[in-house]
Amino acid sequence: MPELIEDTLRILTRITNSRTIMLLKLNDLEISVLSFVGDDPGKYVGFNSSLFDLYQNSGIDSVSVENLPECKTLMSELQLQSCFIKNVYTISEQNETVYLIIFLDGVNNLLDTENDAIKSVLKVLGNQVKAEYYHDSEKIFAVSEKSIDASAVTDNWEDNFNRLLTISSDLVFILDKDGCFLRVNNFGAMMLDYSEPEMIGKHFLDFVEPEKKIEVSIAFSKMLLSERVIKIKTTLITKLNKKVPVEVAGRTITKDENVIGMLGICKDFTKQNKFEEELKKLKPKLIEAHRLISLERSRKWQYNSLIEELDRLKNEFVSNISHEFRTPLASIIGFSETIVSDPDLPEEMKAEFSLVILNEGKRLTKLINDILDLSKIQIGKLTLNRTTFDLKKMLKEQVEDNRPAAEKKQITIEFEYSKEETFLDADKEKLEQAFDSILSNAIKFTNEDGRIKVILNNLLEEVEVIISDTGIGIAEKDLPYIFQKFYRVSRPGTEIPGTGIGLVFVKQIIDLHKGLISVQSELGNGTTFIIRLLKNISIKNSRG
Ligand code: ADP
Repeated sequence: MPELIEDTLRILTRITNSRTIMLLKLNDLEISVLSFVGDDPGKYVGFNSSLFDLYQNSGIDSVSVENLPECKTLMSELQLQSCFIKNVYTISEQNETVYLIIFLDGVNNLLDTENDAIKSVLKVLGNQVKAEYYHDSEKIFAVSEKSIDASAVTDNWEDNFNRLLTISSDLVFILDKDGCFLRVNNFGAMMLDYSEPEMIGKHFLDFVEPEKKIEVSIAFSKMLLSERVIKIKTTLITKLNKKVPVEVAGRTITKDENVIGMLGICKDFTKQNKFEEELKKLKPKLIEAHRLISLERSRKWQYNSLIEELDRLKNEFVSNISHEFRTPLASIIGFSETIVSDPDLPEEMKAEFSLVILNEGKRLTKLINDILDLSKIQIGKLTLNRTTFDLKKMLKEQVEDNRPAAEKKQITIEFEYSKEETFLDADKEKLEQAFDSILSNAIKFTNEDGRIKVILNNLLEEVEVIISDTGIGIAEKDLPYIFQKFYRVSRPGTEIPGTGIGLVFVKQIIDLHKGLISVQSELGNGTTFIIRLLKNISIKNSRG
C-alpha cells in the first residue's frame, strides 16, 4: 500500500509540475514523514521541525507555513517558488492529521484545471491513507458513527474525561510540577480512605510508605527527565494506616517544553498480591497432588500390566494343561486299544502295557489333584491334616518312587540323612505332594547323566531338606517369579512341558506349615531348593 501512496504522489508531481511532495503525519507528540517524492529528504528536516512547532502552537495552513522562516530559507536554497499544504485525513479523537505538502518549482499559483485534478487525486489519497494507516480506528469509529454524532462526543471531551475519572476504580491523579495533588478522582481518594478535598494540595510522597519514599522520588525524577511513561510498584498508606500495594504509572505534562505537572494512575494490587500469596501457599499442595496423581498413574499402569500378564499366563496355562492331559490320555487309550484288539498279545507285554496305563493314570490323577488343590488355594480352602510321622522314612520312599524316572535318564539320585529320628507334626500327604513336585522337577530339568541329591538335616527345632540337582538351572531374572501362578521359565529352543502350578502349590503347603522355602540356582549349573519345617506344631506360634 505505501507504494500505491507513493504512486499517487508521483501522479501529483506530474499534474503540478512540482519537484517535491511530502505526506506528513502530525499529532501532539511527533511529526513523521509517511511518504516522500522528490529531492533529498534530509534537506527538509529543519522545515519539518518548525512545522511541528507551528502545528502545536497555532495550527497549520498554507499561508502560515509559507511564512515560516525555515520555509523561506528552504525555498530560496532549493529555488522553489511556492508551498501548498492540503489536509488529507484527520483523526480527531487522536488529535492527528495527515497533510500533503507540495513545493512548486516554476509557478506561484495553480491553474483551475490543475486544482480540480488535485482535488480528485486528494480524494483517492485520503482513502489510501485511511486504508493503510487507520483501518483499525476506522472500524471503531464506524460503529460509533452509526449511533451517535462523533464530534458532539469528542468536542465535549473534557466533560467526558471528568466523568471517566468519577467511574474509575483506580486512583487517577494530576500533580503540579512540585508533586502535589491538583486533581484526584473520588474512588481513588476512597481507596486511601480520604475524600477528594483532603488529598488536594498534599504531596504524593505524603501517601507513600516511609521506606519506599526514596525509591518513588527517584522514579519521579526520572519521569521529569523523560517524556516516557514511568511505572513503579510501591506501597501507599491510607488514612487509617493500612498499607495498599499499588502500581503507579505516570508521565509529565509539558507546555512550551517546560514541565507543568504530572498525571498518573495507581492500580491497587491488594487482591492480586493476595491471590499470589494463596497461589504460593497452594503450590506445595499442587506439587504433592501432582506427585500423587503420577504415583496413582504408575500404580494403575503396573496393575494393568499385571492383569495383562496374568491373562497371558492363564491363556498359556490352558494350552499347556490340555497338552499335559492329552499325552497321558493318548498312552492310556493307545495301550488299552492294543490289549483289547489283540487277544493273542503275550502276557508279559500285556503286563508291561498295563503298567504304562497305570502310571499314566496316576499322572493324570496327580495333575487333576494339583489343579483342584490350586483352586482350593485360590479360595483359601486348603487346610492341613496333621499327624506325627517320620520325615526320614517319607523322604526315602519319595526318592525310591522317583528313582525309576531318574534312571531312565541315567540320573543318579542320592539321599543323605543323619541317624537321629526326625519326627514331624505335619500334613504327610501334602508334604509328599510338595517333595514329589520338587523331585520330579529336578528330574525333568536335569539332563542325562546328571545328579540329584536329597539331604535331610536334623536341627534343634526344625528339619531342613535340601534337594539339589546338576540340571539346566534358572536364570537370576526368573528366580523371583517361579513361585507365581502359571509362571514358566521360557527356554527358547528347549521347551519342556509343564503347567506352572507345581511350585505354587509347593510354596502354599510350606507356608501353611509356617515353614520356609528358598531357591538358589545358576543357569547351566543346577538348582537347589531348601525347605525348613518346624518339628512340632506347638512351636509354630513362636513364628507367628
Ligand atoms: P512346571 O509345571 O512348568 O514345571 P513349576 O511351577 O513346577 O511349573 O515350575 C515353575 C518353573 O520353574 C518351571 O517352568 C521351570 O522352568 C522352573 N523350575 C522348577 N524347578 C526347576 C529345576 N529343578 N531346575 C530348573 N528349573 C526349574
